[in-house]
This record gives sequence, structure tokens and C-alpha cells, in this order.
Amino acid sequence: RGKLVDVDPDLNELIDIEAERQVRKLILIPSESTAPQAVREALGSVFQNLYAEGYPDESMLGLPEEEILNYPQRLAEYRRYSDARYYKGVEYVDIVEALARRRCAELFATPATPAEKIFVNVQPLSGAPANNAVYTAFLNPGDTIMGMNLLHGGHLTHGSSVNRSGKWFNAVHYTVDPQTEQIDYDAVLQLAQEHKPKIIIAGYSSYPWVPDWKKFREIADAVGAILLADVSHIAGLIAAQVVPSPVGIAHVVTFTTHKTLCGPRGACILTTDSATAKKIDRAVFPGEQGGPHVHAIAALAVALKIAQTDSFRQLQSQIVKNCQALTQRLRERGLRIPFGGSDTHLGNIDCKSIVGEDGTPLSGDMAARILDIAGIVLNRNTIPGDTSALRASGIRFGTPWMTQRGLKEADMVEVADIIADILFATKPYSIETRQGMAQRAKVDFEVFENARLRVRALAEKAGTDLTPGKHGYP
Ligand code: PLP
Repeated sequence: RGKLVDVDPDLNELIDIEAERQVRKLILIPSESTAPQAVREALGSVFQNLYAEGYPDESMLGLPEEEILNYPQRLAEYRRYSDARYYKGVEYVDIVEALARRRCAELFATPATPAEKIFVNVQPLSGAPANNAVYTAFLNPGDTIMGMNLLHGGHLTHGSSVNRSGKWFNAVHYTVDPQTEQIDYDAVLQLAQEHKPKIIIAGYSSYPWVPDWKKFREIADAVGAILLADVSHIAGLIAAQVVPSPVGIAHVVTFTTHKTLCGPRGACILTTDSATAKKIDRAVFPGEQGGPHVHAIAALAVALKIAQTDSFRQLQSQIVKNCQALTQRLRERGLRIPFGGSDTHLGNIDCKSIVGEDGTPLSGDMAARILDIAGIVLNRNTIPGDTSALRASGIRFGTPWMTQRGLKEADMVEVADIIADILFATKPYSIETRQGMAQRAKVDFEVFENARLRVRALAEKAGTDLTPGKHGYP
């Protein structure tokens, strides 16, 4: 019965200091965002306690929201059991899951593809299991899949050799054009014709441009492949109609719910074909997973309701504007932006042009470490030209967190200036250690201290309170 602070004060304190870190630092990790309080309340709710293997009753799916909420099952005395559930006690879970599915279909509907035509699975525990479920639905071990090379911005689950997708399937990878550092659609078509993949994956982790969905569909059609759009990163931007949607173009769309969508950790799978939807449902459960995380589905239903508001759409549009401002200023300051820019919420910086006296190029990891100590949190990332994921020469940034905290374009100019000041004040050098050669760096103390104070000022301006509603965003 006891509260966390009494039962486990140490863990309670860890939560407190993590909450403090999140307001003290300027977080530029593009795969993160802060989930609104309402979402976190649902996440901590009693739905956490349940097993609900299976799916809601067919009769509930596809109903408009009011009808789902008024469904007689809501009243225990009219309880009707879903044949597609293995446990009893899930009458309210059915309503929650049907609601999440419906809200998702409505959010991602387009004029050409209304909600009634969109089938949604909200059970994947995260993005990787969602992609794996799609593979389970359509592939046999040894079949060929084709996605973007991990080093050029693809995800591990798009066929990386260290991931199940690369171990079980014959993965071939397209890359960016070495000159433009952008996708060359003719080269993608040629590779597809050569290898005849069963699934082609478009959608990325660090490639910063929205793919041309129609061109990808044409390429998939030309070789009889299924087009999987993995829009994990840009789901919020798509929902807000800030960038083009693959819904109605790709055969299957997957996305995580905790990045720009600002929801709980989880994932969704969308399709517009009922036979495909059935295959996907079976692939998620029992193919890939056991019991769904009902508390996460409840929290997702809340996040999807929030995502239908004007303030969410304004937030997403500001996220992109902020990314543009940040990218432009970084470039003006003389930093090289790989991939030629960005039209989304994320971008990259090439660190290797900063070279120490002994010729050591600044690594992405060292840059990220130094920036973190100054209070700017981002991650090392490979960029075109890198040959190993372990030796990344780039850093990746994104604007969801900062935009949620109310910062605007002028603030992004200051963030870019702080990053540039620190990177240009850094002198990397190499030393020999027992493990081999390693990188160290010296940073000009005055520049660094000044940068730290400027980070603190910006963090204070952004507010130390992450309570939703503070900046007009629920
Ligand atoms: N797909 C893409 C494009 C991603 O960027 C990510 C996560 O970063 C995933 C899938 C996997 O999501 P998760 O980490 O939730 O498994």
C-alpha cells in the first residue's frame, strides 16, 4: 500500500534526479520527446495489472468513437465476451483497445484514405517488434528484404547483420548517392530489379529527408515487393500533416509512438487491406508477442486524442521550423551538415572536419560527450563515409524536446551557436592505451564555461516545469 517514497526511497530519488536532469539539460535527441502528464497518468493506471492476449471483439472494431465508448460491454451486466480474447476480465480492455485503434485510424486518415479503410494494430511493444511482426507476416527465413544501409541512416531492424532481420533474411541495402548524400531512386530501382526483394523498407533513423512515397511504391510495384514505410521518427509530423503521409501508398506502415508522436513507448502497424490486416494481427499475436501492454495502449489512446488537437499540429510545425533554424545556423557557423540538410525534425553534424594538432579528427562520441557535460544532450551517429557503427564521425540532433518546452527559432540560433562555439574550441588528440589507440580532447575552458552558462540560461527560459499546458501544448 505504501508510496514509492516509503517503499523504495532510493528509486524515488533516482526518479527525482532524472526529472531534474530533463529540465536542466537541453535535450536534442530526435527519437525522444516528453509524454504529456495525461499520457503518463494512463501509463501508471490499473490497466498495467492485466493479461489480455488476443484482440477486441470484431463487432467493436471500425465503429466510430462514440459507439465504442457507449458499447454495451461497458456495463458489466451486458458483458459480451470477445471470441478473440483468451482471458476473461477484459471487457474494459476491449473498449480501450478499440478506442486506440479507432483514434489512430482517424488521426492518420487522408482525403483519399478515410479512417474506415485503415486497419490498425496497436499491440506491438515497440518499433523493433512491430517491424519483426511485419516480416513474420510476409516472409520465410532466407527471403530477401531491402532497406537503407544502417551507416547511412537505416534502422537495425531494416536488415542489419547484428539484428534478427539481417540474420534470418537475405538483406540487401541501398545507400545514399556519394555526391548528393541523398537517395538516388534510379539506383534503388536498379538494386531492387537485381535482387527482387519481397519487402522494401523506406523510413529512417538518421537520414533526415522524408522519402518520396510514390516513387518507392512504383519501385515496389516494378518488382512485386511489399512496401513497408517505417515512419517511427516522423509519425507526429505526418499526423499533423506537416510532411507527406505514406498511408494509402505503402502496403504497410509501422511507427513507434514515443518519438515525435509524444506518446507512451510502443508502436502501431497500419494497412488498408483487410487480408493483410489479418495476417499482421496474427503475426503480432501469437506470432511475435504474448500479452499486450494494456496500460501502454490506454496511454496511446490518450496521446492519439491529444494528437488530434490544433496545439499538437502547431507543435509539430514548430518542431520542423526549429530544426530548419538550427540547421541553417550550424551551417552558417561553418559546420558541415551531412545529407545536404533536412525537411524533418532531425539533422546531423559532421565532426571530422574539426582536426587536432596531431591530425586526429573529432569523433562523434567525443563531441557528444563534451556537449553533454556542457548540458546539450545528443547522440553520436554514423554519417555517409563512415565504415563502422562503432566509429561514428557524426552527431545527430532533433528538436522535439526543445519545441515542447516552448523554444523558438531565435533560441535555436543560440543553441547552434553554443554547439559551434564548443566544437570549434575542442582540440582532439590520440593516445595509446592498453586497449589500443584512443581519443582524448582539450577544450578551451573560458569558451566551455561561457557555453555552460548560456545553456543554463536557455534551460531556465524554457522553464524548469515540464508540466503539460505550460506552453499551450496539453
Ligand atoms: N524504426 C526506426 C526507423 C527507428 O528509428 C526505431 C528506433 O529508433 C525503431 C524502428 C525501433 O524502435 P524501438 O527502439 O522502439 O524498438
